[in-house]
Amino acid sequence: SDYVVGISGGIGSGKTTVTDLFAKLGIEIIDADLIAREAVEPGKPALKAIVDKFGLAVLDDSGYLNRAKLRTLVFEDSEVKNWLNELLHPVIRQQMLLQTQQAKSAYCLLSVPLLVENKLNEQVDRVVIVDVDEQTQLQRTLLRDKTNAPQIRAIMNAQATRQQRLAVADDIIDNNGKANDLIKQVAHLHQHYLQFAKQI
Ligand code: ATP
Repeated sequence: SDYVVGISGGIGSGKTTVTDLFAKLGIEIIDADLIAREAVEPGKPALKAIVDKFGLAVLDDSGYLNRAKLRTLVFEDSEVKNWLNELLHPVIRQQMLLQTQQAKSAYCLLSVPLLVENKLNEQVDRVVIVDVDEQTQLQRTLLRDKTNAPQIRAIMNAQATRQQRLAVADDIIDNNGKANDLIKQVAHLHQHYLQFAKQI
């Protein structure tokens, strides 16, 4: 696809629920989280670089990256964090570009949870934000994940704020209501995106 719509939203905002609806309309979804995980799979150069720097202790018994371990190493160490970002971001960006170019649908969606945080809004043709108030976001995430409210609040606090996300939005999908309310909004945006894709 030549036309790329970036979609984002905070934890539990409903990104997957929304992208599933676009997928039903035949639109290809590129998942930045998945690409980020694949970038550090066994055999990938990035994983070798990580092991060279931190030692074999960052791997689990099966040779996969132990993300929790890496997180503790990176936590509050901005130098290590920058090193890791400079290693992974180019690889992830290139793969995202490749997959959007290979997508066959009229336009494609690039789903990026940390779109605002990583300034990827500048790399896409359009930004749609799945918006939900914080209370609902917390409740839905609590229902879905086997965690506790403080842990989810901590993640929410580490992410961009609702306002920061809305500030980069070209379009907003309101997910405060029932999941069924999303269908009309998605169908409406889909028509617009088909038009925009035709115009470039
Ligand atoms: P994450 O980034 O944390 O993976 P997400 O943004 O992809 O989350 P979803 O997984 O789509 O969010 O939604 C979070 C949870 O809320 C899911 O359990 C989903 O089924 C539920 N949910 C989504 N939209 C609604 C809605 N309108 N009403 C009720 N539940 C909803």
